[in-house]
Amino acid sequence: MKTMQDKYYREIDYARISITDYCNLSCRYCKSEADAILEKQVSQKQLFNLIDVLDELKFRKIRFTGGEPLLNDWIVSLVEYTNNKEHIKDIGLTTNAVLLDKYLDALIKAGLKRINISLDTLDDNKYYEITKTNYLQRVKDNIALAVASELIVKVNVVLLKGVNDNEIVNFLEFGRLNNVQIRFIELMPIGENDDFIKDKQLNIRDKFKNYQSREKKPNCKDVSDYYIDEYGYCFGIISPISNHFCERCNRIRFTSDGKLRLCLHSDNELDIYEYLNKKEELKALILNYIKEKPEKHYLNENMKANKGMSKIGG
Ligand code: SF4
Repeated sequence: MKTMQDKYYREIDYARISITDYCNLSCRYCKSEADAILEKQVSQKQLFNLIDVLDELKFRKIRFTGGEPLLNDWIVSLVEYTNNKEHIKDIGLTTNAVLLDKYLDALIKAGLKRINISLDTLDDNKYYEITKTNYLQRVKDNIALAVASELIVKVNVVLLKGVNDNEIVNFLEFGRLNNVQIRFIELMPIGENDDFIKDKQLNIRDKFKNYQSREKKPNCKDVSDYYIDEYGYCFGIISPISNHFCERCNRIRFTSDGKLRLCLHSDNELDIYEYLNKKEELKALILNYIKEKPEKHYLNENMKANKGMSKIGG
């Protein structure tokens, strides 16, 4: 079986799977006050079935997300199960790293290859302002643990105007001194936090126009653009609005309540919850629904998704 393609001939071989929408942080741009926990949550067994089907469909890369995936203590056995698959070779995790010290060794032993850690500030007060918690030092310690391991580690920073956009130099220094790659992410309009997001949005390319950009390999699927600072330190920026990468999109998403979402910024979803124990039907559904995958997002045409990031999995 060939790798699955959508109607724009994009190879779809990367799935981002949210395993819970529970989170131990409350980041202002991700969770709105009105956010209630999703009624249905997929089980470990259902995700094993989904992984079986994605492997048959020649998916190459899986990233587990949330909410906060480390709140599910079966994350280790899920990574292990995925690692034993024939075609899935690249297993990643996106986490806020608060609980990472508890799971790191077991996740690596289970087959985890890479980890993206979300951290938007290096300032204790701002960390509380953004997340409503005081876990900054713990997160920094867990970043050091992850960097010391064999995992590929990246720190993702969502840039918020007037909040952390004055910390860019501090983050570059943090990245250089801790030997970890920093990626600055453009804040995207999504979910129910319109006022907050509108107020905090900035054009990320303007912020980095004085840095030297780095050439990208042809056909590179990486969504980041890379830059080098005056010390030769290489960092990334992800700009889905000011420079989208939809033409080379290779991903689909599965939400923690059993929905297949073809595009981050489209609320069109297929409810597959009932099929997560019927593998042949599930496979046929995915193969058919992929034809609906939109060509790109329409954020620049002010068309945004209303489902919040914590419900999608980023
Ligand atoms: S916005 Fe949609 S089409 Fe574009 S890269 Fe993201 S998921 Fe793919």
